[in-house]
Amino acid sequence: MTSLPVLPLSPDAPGRRPALPPRHLADLDLAGRQALLAELGEPAFRAKQLSTHYFGRLVRDPAQMTDLPAASRDRLAESLMPRLLTPVRELACDGGATRKALWRLHDGSLVESVLMGYPDRVTVCISSQAGCGMACPFCATGQAGLTRNLSTAEIVDQAVYLAGVAASGAVTGSPPRLSHVVFMGMGEPLANYSRVVDAVRRLCTPAPEGLGFRNAM
Ligand code: SF4
Repeated sequence: MTSLPVLPLSPDAPGRRPALPPRHLADLDLAGRQALLAELGEPAFRAKQLSTHYFGRLVRDPAQMTDLPAASRDRLAESLMPRLLTPVRELACDGGATRKALWRLHDGSLVESVLMGYPDRVTVCISSQAGCGMACPFCATGQAGLTRNLSTAEIVDQAVYLAGVAASGAVTGSPPRLSHVVFMGMGEPLANYSRVVDAVRRLCTPAPEGLGFRNAM
């Protein structure tokens, strides 16, 4: 039997120092966000306000957060919603029913997500790792090995960003609400277990704490 090449599985193992992205509210549950805001000298109810913008309204532009004091909007957004994903390329195909997105992460890693529209639902396929260590012989991602695990917020932010694209009506012939999530983008989800489980919690917890999906994975 031919043995497959062994590639590094987890750069988060002791002794390795992955380049972690900045902390984001989607890394934390509501209590964690409240504790963070207390550290910043802000009242706890700001956690719900910021969560409502991010998860409930799909808003990340501080100028649109008009219920926050104008003097602290930028600082709060910078502290709890730093940019995690920079769009590199977005492609529409299948007559606009499928949209592919390529993102650059803060350390230059590239990951992909896909939004897929159907007459009765919209599904997002998201990545859980930058690269992949599984080395499946048929897969181009696997041949390059694993760069690092994504943070919880980097996983969640793909779905939240593309929920906004769906809400804009950009997915032809489909309802405007993102309704399903699959973890079939780059990476093996179970190799980044704890962050993927946290991401599922954020995606399934009702707004404003989470995105409120009933159908993840
Ligand atoms: S991304 Fe999926 S198919 Fe590709 S190597 Fe990893 S586990 Fe295999």
